[in-house]
Amino acid sequence: MTAEKLSAPAGSGREHDGHERDDDRVHDFLRANEDRLVAQLAEWVRIPSVAGSNRDPDLRRSAAWLAGALRDTGFPRVEIWWAGEAPAVFAEWAVDRDAPTVLVYSHHDVRAVKEENWSETAPFEPVVRAGRLYGRGSSDAKGQILAHLWGLRAHLAEHGAPLVNLKFLVEGEEELGSPSFAGLLEEKAEEIAADLVVFSDTLLWRAGAPAICTSVRGMISAHIEVYGPVKDIHSGAASGSAPNSALELSRLLASVLDSSGRIALPGFYDDARPIPDERREELAALPFDEEDWLARSHTRKVGGESGYTVLEQLWLRPSVEVISMIAGDPVGPTRAAIPAVAAADISFRTVPGQRNDRVAEQIRRWAEERLPDTVEATVEVAEESAQLAYETPRGPAVDALDAAMRRGFRVSTVGRMGNAGGGPAELMARMLKAPIVFFGTGYIEDDWHDSDESVHLPTLLDGAATLAFLWEELARALPD
Ligand SMILES: [Zn+2]
Repeated sequence: MTAEKLSAPAGSGREHDGHERDDDRVHDFLRANEDRLVAQLAEWVRIPSVAGSNRDPDLRRSAAWLAGALRDTGFPRVEIWWAGEAPAVFAEWAVDRDAPTVLVYSHHDVRAVKEENWSETAPFEPVVRAGRLYGRGSSDAKGQILAHLWGLRAHLAEHGAPLVNLKFLVEGEEELGSPSFAGLLEEKAEEIAADLVVFSDTLLWRAGAPAICTSVRGMISAHIEVYGPVKDIHSGAASGSAPNSALELSRLLASVLDSSGRIALPGFYDDARPIPDERREELAALPFDEEDWLARSHTRKVGGESGYTVLEQLWLRPSVEVISMIAGDPVGPTRAAIPAVAAADISFRTVPGQRNDRVAEQIRRWAEERLPDTVEATVEVAEESAQLAYETPRGPAVDALDAAMRRGFRVSTVGRMGNAGGGPAELMARMLKAPIVFFGTGYIEDDWHDSDESVHLPTLLDGAATLAFLWEELARALPD
């Protein structure tokens, strides 16, 4: 890796007296409180706030836990709001009408687990091992929120009160695609109004080479069912003449990519905005090693669209995945029958310029045109949970985050990256009419959504330090 890590703390590049000494105090404060942060995180991870389990009291307990932690940090106003049936936590600390107002977004719901696949620990029984805390939600996103709370504590130890007006909105249905979030944003428009959103649900590039995420992709998924015979029929009786649902679905899915790895839906790229050279240069400047990438991403080979680097494929180009396929007798003894139904879930990642309604129409038309008339099919595109891509505008907020990250991670330069996934970033930017900067503390090797999810504790501390400095940098950088 070529990332340069300075042995001595670096300043933000600005000239203020005592900057480095102040920075040491923040880092020392956080190190001195690491055990408390880890104990809090473990306590919160023990609450299995699995997304969608709305009748379950655990989502409410998780929200109540966070509300308590925000009150303990000093927020004078903390409330539980309901987005559909999912509890969101709102907190506000207004300090100065003339100071900028920043809204921090994240989520406290977590993905469902397959407990039998966890080897380090049971998903909701956190353990610390070799500098990582293992448990569902440790990195996505409870750790990121605790980095905020401890960053704020360090900031308060320096300044007594926040240097910006702070609001937190931590939702409880992000892992479902935030289906009720737009309604909540609309209902609470006045209360959540802000000059800037800090969106904390993204990855960093890698340890030792921090980078700012300045774009997230959009997402739209579809469920396809293909119907062959009226019922499963003995293949010894009808094989040859009966249309096979599994075969026709496979043929359709295989046609989604052409031989160069491009998505073959007619018109799919028409709205995608061209990638600026500057963006490609930013990604090319990140330290990248293919072997290292394969190990961290648990992949065997690099595939994908020809003509684009791995990082361009991940962050700047659309992609498609088959998430699941089912047909016939996948478990238990086979009946040697031609399956009546075959089903698949597919998910597209989209880029700036692409629109959900158009992509939805392209998916429907592609399936309709490609499937032969010997089978019937239904195509359900989940437009209600689709998300658009978002790009952070260049400007003072990104510069302030850059300075805060240099001080937080004690490096001389901070790279630029994207995020392969999304979240309701574009929705928030649109509804709040405010720009979004991304700052999360996860890495790909934290295994979000997978078994043995974990968080890298030294990165949580550096992230907390970054957030302690961010409010200071933003108070200076943003217009009043
Ligand atoms: Zn998340």
